[in-house]
Amino acid sequence: MLEQMVTKEFGKNLSQCNESEIYRALLQLVQKKAADREMTGRKKKLYYISAEFLIGKLLSNNLINLGIYDEVAEELDRAGKSLAALEEREPEPSLGNGGLGRLAACFLDSVATLGLPGDGVGLNYHYGLFRQKFKKCRQKEKPNPWIGEDNWLIRSDRQFTVSFGKFDVQAVMYDILVTGYDNGTNRLHLFDLDTVDESLVTRGIDFDKSEIEKNLTLFLYPDDSDEEGRLLRVYQQYFMVSCGAQLILAEAKERGSNLHDLAEYAAVQINDTHPSMVIPELIRLLRNEGIAWEEAVQIVTDTCAYTNHTILAEALEKWPMAFLEEAAPAIVPVIQRLDEEIKKKYEDPAVAIIDKDNRVHMAHMDMHYGHSVNGVAYLHTEILKNSELNDFYKLYPEKFNNKTNGITFRRWLLHCNRELTDFLTDTIGDEFKRDASKLEKLLAYREDDRVLDRLMEIKKANKHRLALYLRETQGISLNEDSIFDIQIKRLHEYKRQQLNALYVIHKYREIKKGKRPVRPITLIFGAKAAPAYTIAKDIIHLILCLQELIRKDPEVSPYLQVVMVENYNVSKAEKLIPACDISEQISLASKEASGTGNMKFMLNGAVTLGTEDGANVEIHELVGDENIYVFGEDSDTVIARYDRGDYRPRDYYDWNRDLKKAVNFIISKKMLKIGSRKHLLHLYNELISKDWFMTFPDFNAYVETKERAYADYEDSRRWAQKMLVNVAKAGFFSSDRTIEQYNNDIWDL
Ligand SMILES: *Cc1c(COP(=O)(O)O)cnc(C)c1O
Repeated sequence: MLEQMVTKEFGKNLSQCNESEIYRALLQLVQKKAADREMTGRKKKLYYISAEFLIGKLLSNNLINLGIYDEVAEELDRAGKSLAALEEREPEPSLGNGGLGRLAACFLDSVATLGLPGDGVGLNYHYGLFRQKFKKCRQKEKPNPWIGEDNWLIRSDRQFTVSFGKFDVQAVMYDILVTGYDNGTNRLHLFDLDTVDESLVTRGIDFDKSEIEKNLTLFLYPDDSDEEGRLLRVYQQYFMVSCGAQLILAEAKERGSNLHDLAEYAAVQINDTHPSMVIPELIRLLRNEGIAWEEAVQIVTDTCAYTNHTILAEALEKWPMAFLEEAAPAIVPVIQRLDEEIKKKYEDPAVAIIDKDNRVHMAHMDMHYGHSVNGVAYLHTEILKNSELNDFYKLYPEKFNNKTNGITFRRWLLHCNRELTDFLTDTIGDEFKRDASKLEKLLAYREDDRVLDRLMEIKKANKHRLALYLRETQGISLNEDSIFDIQIKRLHEYKRQQLNALYVIHKYREIKKGKRPVRPITLIFGAKAAPAYTIAKDIIHLILCLQELIRKDPEVSPYLQVVMVENYNVSKAEKLIPACDISEQISLASKEASGTGNMKFMLNGAVTLGTEDGANVEIHELVGDENIYVFGEDSDTVIARYDRGDYRPRDYYDWNRDLKKAVNFIISKKMLKIGSRKHLLHLYNELISKDWFMTFPDFNAYVETKERAYADYEDSRRWAQKMLVNVAKAGFFSSDRTIEQYNNDIWDL
């Protein structure tokens, strides 16, 4: 298949081609095969609008979805080439921060896999988020250029004009083909400007934020610690939704809509509040087409649905009206009129769209003028209904629904863990590849020593592969016989990497006192911190200093190792997750809306150590008490304590000796020799005076539970059974299930 292509393209044999030629040929092959499967001619189509699509590398996944992975791998092998080496060549776009963007990518995969017509709508950030570097135990940010000569973007002919307050811009649309597994192809539309100037970037990720035409799509989430950055963010959002709305109407018309019946032609899913301005923008455009106000509002309400991703107050966007007047003046009168209607209907200022400080509450607009509001895990949706969004739930109980997140098993099992996939196929057949619930067939082998041994062997092989990779990329050697205990996710105080770091200190001190663990422990972290999030960067500093301290201490390093993986991203996740024994999901109960990392780990046979938070609650229910390690205060306790406002970390610090010693160690002589006094002291003070995410009350329970998990690991037959149950029960977390529910309850495609 490839041989023919390269002969035609380069006039030589596959074996004579270099990697970049083969990569180009593969790209063309995939795009041609994918385009042949495009889903056209259906009436209704989904538009999943999202500021983030953390798609990861695409080559292997597309080969798998098109059903040609093995064939291509063999053909390359015969020519003395390696598909794995080609995979390493592909740059990873960082068009997302973390879970929310990765979810959008999993959803696109599942929509196509289910044969549903549905496209993504987003922005073509040239440098993505950022590439993380470690220097002197600190995070440094660099641009992450990913649009090289050979890339997945296809420039389309569609062009739209977007009017900002002071000027107009001409938008161009790029498409990335989204292949379904053994099914149709959809598209991810990424909007951009030809005038964007990459040379604007100076040191690190600094750039001049004033010239919008030149900087609009340089980065995802430009530093929002200052006013200019926040304003640019509003420009980006309006640009994205204006292009999206124009595309939706143009395509609906092409499919035969008269726009009065738009809701029969389009379903718009608003992924968090970043795309919320699509509501007023669609209303505005329908009004321009001569549709009366009331009808336009109704059409848009019937078309749009909103997904809430967080209960962290700082993430519910409220934009000053002045920003909208500058970036999106055309929709300001629309928003004002929507707000007036709400204020006429409901007196309560808590449900207003525009507040007394003249700020626009994006989520409020979504809930009043969308037909569906969903949370992303059972517990999260309950918290939305009963506390966070209770005012709205009382107004519109029928709009609220839960859609527990999911992950695509193509990437997070078939691609990242081929050995496990093959073993599962040999053991239970390959139905699970189309229908994830069939993984439950594995439960029949719970007492089968051959199967249990094999699960352990595969885990060992994956640990070996990870060790090789980390040696090559970061010069770190791992003890492959140790327990791999992994916490990889964005760095945020609510996710509580600091709690894990306190455990590291505790363990270090125990080993120093002569209390050695029966088996060495490897604690692996991976996390990017937002560039302006000081405490998060201080926590990274703490972990990197601990890594250094322990590495250099021969009394401790044979028993305990800390590794922070640089530039955590999708490709790193694909290597880390299959090698994991213990999956750290230790967010403060009530704060993690769902988590999806927890699902990836479970699917790959890691056992969860976690709080009763997000989808951990559902994992717990599925696998049972025996096959998960749960600890910590529950969400009711936490929410009540926040309501009372009486949490004093000092109370715990003063009375808990082990905790006090661990916290004090942060600013000990040993640590200050390695790290920066300023940053370590800042973190120490933050913990003893605020500890906003309540790590201290959970410290003892965390240490005890973790020790219990480590002890249990020594009974390897029992441990393998836990692994087996986790894999077998993971089917519920396939994003195919999630998307089927979205379609049945919200989209009706
Ligand atoms: C899955 C994933 C996440 C989300 O992880 P959580 O543990 O759910 O926060 C973040 N980043 C990457 C690269 C991922 O693959």
